[in-house]
Amino acid sequence: MDNADLREQAGSLFPGGVSSPVRSFKAVPDAPVPVTRASGARVYDADGREYIDYVAAYGPLILGHAHPEVVEAVGAAAATGTAFGALSPGEVELGRRISEATGLERLRFVNSGTEATMTAIRLARAATGRNLVVKFEGCYHGHSDGLLVKAGSGVATLGLSDSAGVPASVAAGTAVLPYNDADALGRWFDERGGETAAVIVEPVAGNMGVVPPEDAFRDALQEIPRRHGALLINDEIITGFRLRYGLSGLLPEADLVCLGKVIGGGLPVGMLGGRAELLSLLAPEGPVYQAGTLSGNPLVMAAGTSTLDALRDGRAHARIDELARYLENGLGTGVRRAEAEACVVRRGSLLSLFFRPEPPRDYAEASQSDTGTFARFHHEMLARGVMLPPSQFEAWFVSAAHTEADIDQTVRAAAEALRVASPGPVAGRSGS
Ligand SMILES: *Cc1c(COP(=O)(O)O)cnc(C)c1O
Repeated sequence: MDNADLREQAGSLFPGGVSSPVRSFKAVPDAPVPVTRASGARVYDADGREYIDYVAAYGPLILGHAHPEVVEAVGAAAATGTAFGALSPGEVELGRRISEATGLERLRFVNSGTEATMTAIRLARAATGRNLVVKFEGCYHGHSDGLLVKAGSGVATLGLSDSAGVPASVAAGTAVLPYNDADALGRWFDERGGETAAVIVEPVAGNMGVVPPEDAFRDALQEIPRRHGALLINDEIITGFRLRYGLSGLLPEADLVCLGKVIGGGLPVGMLGGRAELLSLLAPEGPVYQAGTLSGNPLVMAAGTSTLDALRDGRAHARIDELARYLENGLGTGVRRAEAEACVVRRGSLLSLFFRPEPPRDYAEASQSDTGTFARFHHEMLARGVMLPPSQFEAWFVSAAHTEADIDQTVRAAAEALRVASPGPVAGRSGS
């Protein structure tokens, strides 16, 4: 089956021809690229074309694709049983590593980030006896009903400010405030603080493009909910073990932490953790029910453990930060030379090229980006063998498998793509 066969058959089997919306390339819009195999920093499509990959499965693959140690660990685990429905050593191995690196006293493994945040909120409501949850516009915390309100990337990309099928009564339990707006948070708590169970936030927003937190916002997050008896839920599903080994350190006062992506080494995973007395509210110790047939799965635990072991000495993080900085500089030069209305934002190995002049500080600003120019840029990059996330609002991920030569090739492609894609006199300039 080539690309066209796969697209056609998938189109009749799956809504939009995909198992998750952003993969449809609808936001660009372009034909989706089916991937048949991947290795290191490269993915290959069903027509045999090769791409330098910055999607990295949307975050988990910090070591690159099919890392030999991860593949070996998963194979060894599979050979001794793929699921037990019982406590197994893999959970203890990965759990110990995560607890030591994060200081989280108690953990629960689940199968996706969505489950982790959904459970964290249930726990926060049980712990406080309150119902309201505050989230920030453009932050994504998975697709559970109550969190699918102004939720960034996939949702922003599809132009849905909300999802159909979410009862108004459920959506009404979630308040949405602007990211980086400490005053709005203060006003909310002055008015409704006594009813608010929790505030959930991405410490660096990664689902409206990369939007780092301002200091005043971080301070407010750590101080205001606590003063009103509400919990702070730190969603580190992208940032955890990616910005450094352990948590980002940006919200050390959080009560509950959600992890996912990197800690599963490319297999399906989520986790929540926090103080023992809070996590003890979960069944079977406490009254908050949560369960999972495949939670703590031995293949997932093996992939996660081998990934963390490869990251532990800090060298991989130092390397990807350096590579990402090199990419940031190269793209910045390309933007200036092409006189493109664009800016590069980077935190660690997370990067966005926004098609607007200044880095956005919230979703309202991010959504003013010129998505038409992004789409043309994306198309031109693909034609030059570079696989970027197919949306202005998804972060690019640099992995430890990228090389300087990969970055050079990417920057050269971007310099051309920026000239071709940018509207206005620059694009039409002869010889460009
Ligand atoms: C990816 C993501 C989630 C959801 O995780 P899934 O495994 O896709 O359910 C939640 N929060 C953030 C910040 C994410 O990036």
